[in-house]
Amino acid sequence: MKTLISAGDLKDKKVLLRVDFDVPVENGKIIERFRIEKQKETLDHLVSHGAKVILVSHISAVDSFGELIPQLHLILGHEINFLKTVEDIPGYLNAYAGPALLENIRNFPGEKENSQELASGLAANFDLYVNNAFAVCHRNHASVSAVAKLLPSYPGLLVEEEVARLGKAINEPRAGKVIIMGGAKAETKVPVIKNFLDRADKILIGGVVANDILKEKGLDIGASIADENSAELLKGLDLARPELALPKDFRISENKILDIGPETEKEYGDIIGGASMIIWNGPMGLFENPEFAHGTQAVAEAIINSKAAKMIGGGDTITAVNKMGLLGKFDFVSTGGGAMLAFLAGQEMPGLAVLGYEPDNIKTTG
Ligand code: ADP
Ligand code: MG
Repeated sequence: MKTLISAGDLKDKKVLLRVDFDVPVENGKIIERFRIEKQKETLDHLVSHGAKVILVSHISAVDSFGELIPQLHLILGHEINFLKTVEDIPGYLNAYAGPALLENIRNFPGEKENSQELASGLAANFDLYVNNAFAVCHRNHASVSAVAKLLPSYPGLLVEEEVARLGKAINEPRAGKVIIMGGAKAETKVPVIKNFLDRADKILIGGVVANDILKEKGLDIGASIADENSAELLKGLDLARPELALPKDFRISENKILDIGPETEKEYGDIIGGASMIIWNGPMGLFENPEFAHGTQAVAEAIINSKAAKMIGGGDTITAVNKMGLLGKFDFVSTGGGAMLAFLAGQEMPGLAVLGYEPDNIKTTG
C-alpha cells in the first residue's frame, strides 16, 4: 500500500488534494469544525514541503464554499484562496500564492457520474493527486475515483490513519472486542453486523436496527419505526447467534420504541465494562429528544469509564456524544459515516481500491 511519504520530493509539485469539508452550516457559520481540523495535518505537510496545493471538496449544507473561506482560513491556519471554475486553476498555479479551494465539486457536471471529462479536466493541471477525504472513499465519484487513475495518486495522512485504525478494528483478535450498532439506515449497518459476527465477542444493537431485528424475530413493535424491507435487509444474518445482544426493555411513546430501557442499559454497560476494544456507530434512540437520549448517554458513559480502546463514528453518533462533552475521551473518531461502515463491512471502496487498498490485504500495523 502506498503512503504519502512514498510520493517523494514535493517541492514545487502541483498537488490536487481531495479533502472533506462537508460540514454543517447554520446562518453562514460552520457549526462543526472537526472534519476540517482533521485535514490540517496533511495540508501542513504538503505546504511545508513546498507543494502547490489546490483543495477540492463537496459540501451539502450550502451551495458554495465562497462565504466560508474566512472561516476555513481561521480553522486551518492558512490563508485559503478561492477558485470558482476548473479553468481558473492553471493561471492560479502559475502565479501561485498559497493553497486555494475549488468551488463545491458537486456543482460541476459529472462529479457524481465519475465523469472522465471532469476528471481529465482536473488532472491536466497537476503532478500528483492526494486523497485525504476518507468520508467519500466509498463513492465512485470523479474527484475520488476517476481522477486518481490519471495521476500518480497517494492517500493523505488522514486516510492512512483511518485505514490503520479501522483495519485494526476488523483484524484484532475477537476476544474482548465489542461493537455497538444503532441508529437508522439498516442497509448500511447490517453488513457490518454480518462481518463482525465472527470478529467480535458481542454486538450490541439499538436504534431502528434493533426494531428491524425484533420485528423479524416476531416481536410486536407496535408503531415503532422499522425498515419496510427489513426481512430482505436481514437475509443471511443468523439472528440466533449468541454474539448478538438485543434490547430487553424500552422507552416508549405513543406505542413507538424510541430508546433502550434501563435494564438494557445495565446489561450493555456491563458488557462494555469488560471489553478491551469498543467500536461504536449509531445512537441507541431518538437522542435529539432529551427524553430518549438516556440510552445513548448511558452507552457513552459506560464506554468512557471502560479501559477499552475506544472508536466512534457516524455523523449523528458524533453529534450526540459531542453534545455530552465526551467526544474528546475517544481514542479514535472516524470522519467516515457511510465510509466507515463500508470499510467495517469489508466492502471494496472505489476511492481506496484505486490507491491500491483491497479489503483483504489491509495489514494492521499502527
Ligand atoms: P449515524 O449518523 O451516527 O450513522 P444514523 O444516521 O444511522 O446514525 O441514525 C441516527 C438517527 O437514528 C437519529 O436521528 C436518531 O434519532 C434515529 N433513531 C435512533 N433510534 C431510533 C428509534 N428507536 N426511533 C426513531 N429514530 C431513531
Ligand atoms: Mg446519520
